[in-house]
Amino acid sequence: MNCTEVQDLAAALIDHESLGPRELAAVEAHLLTCPHCRYEYEMDRLTSRIVRTRVPIVQTPNDTYQSILSAIEED
Ligand SMILES: [Zn+2]
Repeated sequence: MNCTEVQDLAAALIDHESLGPRELAAVEAHLLTCPHCRYEYEMDRLTSRIVRTRVPIVQTPNDTYQSILSAIEED
């Protein structure tokens, strides 16, 4: 498995997509031996964690929600 493949799979891992046991083992083995991919993986993981914890989930105000609903119904 080359670096590009590993980084693609590692990105899928970060996005909580499930990998097969063989892919997962190959990615883990590669990350142990390749500092470049490990660095990329750690950066992606940190970035995704920051995005998940720092960006508040915006609640749609109820009247906005209602006006969207009525706009859809008017179609
Ligand atoms: Zn690599």
